[in-house]
Amino acid sequence: MAKNLEGQQVMILPEGSNRVLGRDAQRINIAVAYAVANIVRTTLGPKGMDKMLVSELGDIVITNDGATILEEMNVEHPAAKIMVEIAKTQDKEVGDGTTTSVMLAGMLLKKAGDLLDQDIHASTIVKGYDLAAKKANELLGKIGIKVGIEDKDTLLKIASVAMGSKSIGVGSSKDNLAKLVVSAVTQVAEKRADGKYFVDDELIKIEKKAGGEISDTQLIQGVLVDKEIVHPGMPKSIKNAKIALLDCALEIEKTEVDAKIEITSPEQMQAFLAQEEKMLRDMVEKIAATGANVVFCQKGIDDVAQHFLNKKGIAAVRRVKKSDMEKLARATGAKIATTLDDLSSKDLGSAGEVNEKVVAGEKMVFVENCKDPKSVTIFVRASTDHVVSEGERAIVDAIGAVSSAIEEGHYVTGGGSTELELSVQLAKYATEIGGREQLAIQAFAESLEIVPRTLAENAGMDAIDALVSLRAKHKKEGGEHFGVDVFGSQVADMKALGVLEPLKVKTQAIASAYEAAKMLLRIDDMIASKGKNGGAAGKGGSPGAEGGSGGMGDY
Ligand code: ADP
Ligand code: MG
Repeated sequence: MAKNLEGQQVMILPEGSNRVLGRDAQRINIAVAYAVANIVRTTLGPKGMDKMLVSELGDIVITNDGATILEEMNVEHPAAKIMVEIAKTQDKEVGDGTTTSVMLAGMLLKKAGDLLDQDIHASTIVKGYDLAAKKANELLGKIGIKVGIEDKDTLLKIASVAMGSKSIGVGSSKDNLAKLVVSAVTQVAEKRADGKYFVDDELIKIEKKAGGEISDTQLIQGVLVDKEIVHPGMPKSIKNAKIALLDCALEIEKTEVDAKIEITSPEQMQAFLAQEEKMLRDMVEKIAATGANVVFCQKGIDDVAQHFLNKKGIAAVRRVKKSDMEKLARATGAKIATTLDDLSSKDLGSAGEVNEKVVAGEKMVFVENCKDPKSVTIFVRASTDHVVSEGERAIVDAIGAVSSAIEEGHYVTGGGSTELELSVQLAKYATEIGGREQLAIQAFAESLEIVPRTLAENAGMDAIDALVSLRAKHKKEGGEHFGVDVFGSQVADMKALGVLEPLKVKTQAIASAYEAAKMLLRIDDMIASKGKNGGAAGKGGSPGAEGGSGGMGDY
């Protein structure tokens, strides 16, 4: 509402909409973002805790994954939604480092709030953060260490660190899982014309089944299809499989037009059925003529066709998912035929073996031992559904980490060592810049300390002691890799310990945290219309509502 010249009220916004202005808007957004960051904070690192999330329908998810937690939480405040976006971007771009990026954004905003309280204008803070983010990126470029696809040792370490913070990845199964992930990623990695590698993670299929143990998890050089062979008489184990992939039904298609056939004698009926049978037999003959001994069909297979296939000794699977068909094509080298007339022996793919196996009481078809397959499957096993799901998330994180290390070509040391090194160097840079921006750059530098600090706290260490000793190490020559050894409860050289992470996790986490912080800081007016989010801008108004004690800001 505003007053016009005659002192009358003019309505600008519809009745019931909510408006928050200026410093209040900033204060609320900062409080909300900080509260969100604090929620995921306790999960950071191998000693982080898990969260149990219960959906409206009562489904339970137990996880440690930042992106999953935020997604399942269904946050409502617009600023909180932006924080969720950070996690999603990080997940999409790298596949790991989601908790880190959200925590960093929360801390950048918290520190910005302190500067606002000292009457430093938001645009000055944004400018300082801008300088700091650029400098951080430049420094990361120097800190990064080269890694190639042939450097299996380093890749294995990167995989196990990425998995390490999920409960599943801790313990003896970790090494085995890391090996599976590295083999899978290097198998599907594709060398581009410019010499760089590209990994399409769609090509690594993850199939999961409860029952068994995490150590039963295996890498299949091919595709695992969660279907059964259609006919009990068909072979269940085929060596040197010649595989036909069909995107057409082995059935008599019903005509589009409503047609009526009048049959007046048993002979006519006989002839009609015989005709149908002949059509199906012809279809099977066409397949058999190519030399195929296994058929995967995306559509249905008529009972009569099954019978003929069985007689020819051809194993068949029907109603295979489209995505599985594509993976089968990549793994076996087959071409998907859209009509039977198209199918020739050239289109067949091959696999060392095709086996139908019973897993946890269900039949599944394993297309295995493909030669140099461009698509592989990781079959995740564990005792219960919850563990299997967390196992899958750990493997997805590791695939993301290893892929980005191969694609980007550099790694850094973890345990908060890289963040601390950046922090120390940025603090130096702040004094070089001087002026009002200096304070903002300083704040940026301090924000980065949240990573080693939280790792230490979650490991039950004295965080202040750890930070003091880490800062001292990093100021000396040769101390740049010192971070928090969460298992040894001490500060240690992360390079020697083998705690390695892909460089991209860090560049992306800092970039997305900074972008989100900048976006929220520039808002000085929030107008929420009455609809679904009616008054949302006003919610979360109590600063640090969920931040709770032991918050991040007691610097
Ligand atoms: P995110 O979602 O950000 O990946 P995680 O819970 O996976 O969060 O924790 C990642 C952090 O844990 C990184 O900073 C990483 O360096 C650290 N970390 C992982 N393994 C170790 C380890 N063995 N020792 C110390 N720090 C570790
Ligand atoms: Mg992680």
